[in-house]
Amino acid sequence: MCFFVATIMIKLEAAELAARIKEEVKTEIERGIRPCLAAVRVGDDPASAVYVRNKIRACEEVGIRSEHHALPESTTTSELLDLIATLNARDDVDGILTQLPLPAHVDETAIIEAINPAKDVDGFHPVNAGRLAMGRPVLVPCTPAGIMELLDDRGIELRGANACVVGRSQIVGRPMAQLLLQRDATVTICHSRTRDLAAVTRTADLLVVAIGRAGFIGRDHIKPGATVIDVGMNKVSDPDEVRALFGSEAEKRLEVVAKRGSTLVGDVNPSEAAEVAGMLTPVPGGVGLLTVAMLMKNTLRAAKLRRRKN
Ligand code: NAP
Repeated sequence: MCFFVATIMIKLEAAELAARIKEEVKTEIERGIRPCLAAVRVGDDPASAVYVRNKIRACEEVGIRSEHHALPESTTTSELLDLIATLNARDDVDGILTQLPLPAHVDETAIIEAINPAKDVDGFHPVNAGRLAMGRPVLVPCTPAGIMELLDDRGIELRGANACVVGRSQIVGRPMAQLLLQRDATVTICHSRTRDLAAVTRTADLLVVAIGRAGFIGRDHIKPGATVIDVGMNKVSDPDEVRALFGSEAEKRLEVVAKRGSTLVGDVNPSEAAEVAGMLTPVPGGVGLLTVAMLMKNTLRAAKLRRRKN
């Protein structure tokens, strides 16, 4: 006799949690502390403009004062360093973020390292990355920090779990792996040189993917029942690609493509993942929402820590 056990994949929607995190920040701000976030953007990249606008809007929602420093594409490293020095010196500024990527002629590393670690609400400064690596985190990069909130909120067991992080960027992959290690997961980090990626990812109870390739992770990469966190944000406009990614749910996405020219897709193929995964974060509606919420939380944290020290 043959039994088929149909698994129904749970979509790990994050909107409610993101709203709750922002609400908690708002409540604390209403009790008296009033942080200020300075957002710095260079050039005319439309995606960066949207990201910064969303962050400023979130600040307004929770009661964080914000400043938007939008500088022309021609801004030099030295001019940007001068602005960072001014923001570092201002006592009324608690958090500084420079929207990445910066234009190619700007020395991104120099800019990140110039930000006062106490105001580094993105958690990218080597001091904050080092603290995280040593298991003494202070300001943690927002995307992996948001993923940890989601895993905890859903009660996903991390201790002893096999966790695999695909991608080793400074902003997602590496800090994600550190956070999981700190919580006693057995962590494997994969990247573009990993041999037989699917053989490695298939051992993971928890699979976090941050590579920037639409729908790259398919059914063969996923262990049955695994929790899959899709960090990717890619635009897809080809209708055939949309059909291959969304299967029976493609119609809605095709409408989005017809209206806006493209649809937002993660690094995981959602229709293939639905056949094997236990849980999957949707794109949009997943990790991205938490990133902005955690920026608000980090800004409040930076403000509290600075006031305690001052
Ligand atoms: P990144 O800096 O470009 O790094 C990509 C990583 O993926 C690299 O480590 C690269 O390996 C690895 N990689 C690329 N192709 C691969 C392959 N075929 N197999 C295995 N590994 C591969 O990217 P990122 O900044 O981490 O962003 C990743 C994705 O997440 C993007 O889609 C980005 O838009 C999205 N993102 C979303 C949020 C959010 O809030 N939802 C936040 C940040 C980023 P190598 O190191 O060997 O080159």
